[in-house]
Amino acid sequence: MPYIICHYHEIGLKGKNRKFFEEKLIENIKKTLDKDYFSFVKRISGRILIKLTERGKKREKEIFNALKNIFGIANFASVESCQPKITLMQKKAFELLSKENFKTFRVTTQRSEKEFPLTSQEINERVGEFILKKLKVRLDLSCPEVIIYIEVVEKYVFLYTEKIQGPGGLPVSTGGKAVALLSGGIDSPVAAYFIMKRGVKIDFIHFHAYPFTKKASINKVEKIAEIFKKYQFNSRLYLAPFADLQKEIFLKTPAKLRMILYRRAMAKIAEDIANKEKASALVTGESVGQVASQTLENIKVIDESVALPIFRPLIGFDKQEIIKKAEEIGTFKVSILPHRDCCSRFLPKHPETRAILEKVKEAENKISLSILIKKVLAKTQIKKVY
Ligand code: ATP
Ligand code: MG
Repeated sequence: MPYIICHYHEIGLKGKNRKFFEEKLIENIKKTLDKDYFSFVKRISGRILIKLTERGKKREKEIFNALKNIFGIANFASVESCQPKITLMQKKAFELLSKENFKTFRVTTQRSEKEFPLTSQEINERVGEFILKKLKVRLDLSCPEVIIYIEVVEKYVFLYTEKIQGPGGLPVSTGGKAVALLSGGIDSPVAAYFIMKRGVKIDFIHFHAYPFTKKASINKVEKIAEIFKKYQFNSRLYLAPFADLQKEIFLKTPAKLRMILYRRAMAKIAEDIANKEKASALVTGESVGQVASQTLENIKVIDESVALPIFRPLIGFDKQEIIKKAEEIGTFKVSILPHRDCCSRFLPKHPETRAILEKVKEAENKISLSILIKKVLAKTQIKKVY
């Protein structure tokens, strides 16, 4: 069909900022779609209208798949259009419905153009009556097999029968920036996804123990950053060598506190990078009680290590729910590839589950943390993923 119409929910609520959000959404759509596929992408009365070229019309499937990943789009539809005349609307509706196999239907009209002489209800009735005369079908207002949607917008009339779900959320890069700690496991990419979906641009940081371990975890996070291209176009991935700092913690602090000290050090390094990148928050994949370091007491002690807020969007999720989301967003298959987690080396059988801040700080004071952190930062590499 010649046009695609995209609807959004939350952007519509943004008052004065609405234009800014809509323009960002248009920019993101244009960046995502091949330039040869559309002749324009523009805003019309609370919607985004995409006019497809001849090439674009042949690539609807590919275009749909791309639109499904653009945050800010609540739903979209491939639409037919006609002049704003009721007889033409009836004819177009009939044409569209003739292609469908159904027994019951309903007409749902939205009229943003108030100059059109008929109300939405009158359009529903006039089109409904026409269809009833032409096809052997019944009206069913509450649970029809097919809904024909009609939208009267500015000088256009759009008609369609299929609404495709978008991801919702807000356009990427309308909500500032955050740094997500990516481990190579299942949870952290899902956590990053949820914050990204709220319009926040994400930079990634991964801590690895290379050359003491293989490069597997690095390869995995690189692949994950690649996957996120379809949501936020490009990313920066920081690769931070963590082995020397870990060794100090291992040699000089009580085994029970090791994991918490690792997490505090990671948060501090990520905070330094966030400040440099002008990011306002950190993101991690923790969920209450999933492992020993993720008790409320321990999370509190980890939070105390930095001034920036640490967002944990998965905090109330079960593992099964996280896995389902990871599959949906395309990161699961990479996350389950084997790798040696840098922190799983030399862990005690009974790690602390109820850390006390004073004790943790006492242990932390046994190592020269700030010097060690500076050394990690000096050796951290940046990968730009386009
Ligand atoms: P994941 O599945 O993301 O690895 P997890 O349930 O295994 O999470 P932990 O290993 O306790 O949880 O890690 C908690 C969070 O700390 C991770 O979700 C991630 O955000 C961060 N993290 C842990 N290890 C690393 C690492 N090597 N590099 C970067 N971030 C890490
Ligand atoms: Mg992990």
